[in-house]
Amino acid sequence: MARRTKLTKLTKLAVLPALTLAMALAGCGDGGGETDEGAAGGESNVQLVNEGKLTTCTGLPYKPFQYEEGGDVVGFDVDLVDLVAEDLGVEQEIVDTPFDGIQSGADLNAGKCDLAAAGMTITDVREKNLDFSDPYFEATQALLAKKGSGVTDLASLSGKKLAVQNGTTGFDYAQENAKDVELVNFEDLGLLLTAVETGQVDAGINDNGVLYDWVKEKTDFEVTTEFDTGEEYGIGVKTGNKALLELINKHIAEAKSSGKYDEIYEKWFGKAPESK
Ligand code: GLN
Repeated sequence: MARRTKLTKLTKLAVLPALTLAMALAGCGDGGGETDEGAAGGESNVQLVNEGKLTTCTGLPYKPFQYEEGGDVVGFDVDLVDLVAEDLGVEQEIVDTPFDGIQSGADLNAGKCDLAAAGMTITDVREKNLDFSDPYFEATQALLAKKGSGVTDLASLSGKKLAVQNGTTGFDYAQENAKDVELVNFEDLGLLLTAVETGQVDAGINDNGVLYDWVKEKTDFEVTTEFDTGEEYGIGVKTGNKALLELINKHIAEAKSSGKYDEIYEKWFGKAPESK
């Protein structure tokens, strides 16, 4: 069972020493090539930023993809990445960090984590700054508002306030399509949802999966419409990290063919996937 403790400062401090150690060990080896201390066990060539663990960057909360429960970070993405960690014979450790630094590739480039699993949409701009796995989830933007508010689409928000999340595809969509609407920017989904709930804003835009999950419990609110943005989530790695990317893709494919993907999907969404 993987440990999924949230690490923030500790992980940042651990990155450099781990890299230095891995390099020193690689340089001082006996040349036999039997062991590779920077790599995970088995046949893998995967190099890890923190020895003995697969470090994941994510932006909490993003329920049901990743969120905290009982001191652990759990969710759909966490279970998917656990398949990779298990194969490597290491535990997954999760670094909670603002989504903007994840999607820009900055965190991966800084060696903050091995991969980013954050309900992150594959886009052309992001492809320039990081490498994406094969798609593992379909999403579209959606609008969240209080029941009976009359906010049914972007046009009905004219002169009103719309909450957006920094660095996201929802932010981009709102900037391009919401006319005469005041956009109010939040760093994470939790803050955005609170703003909608408390009436600080008239509506919020984000991915359909997380909004439908939220309204299950917040029954005064509803997802009033979806925008056909046709997005697909991918797991991000640092540009050129082919060994890790191939391993991730192998597990996405295997999970889809073995039924494991469906099992994880049902666990977090309570129903079988319509598409993968
Ligand atoms: N899927 C959206 C994006 O990639 C939102 C992701 C997120 O906020 N974690 O921009």
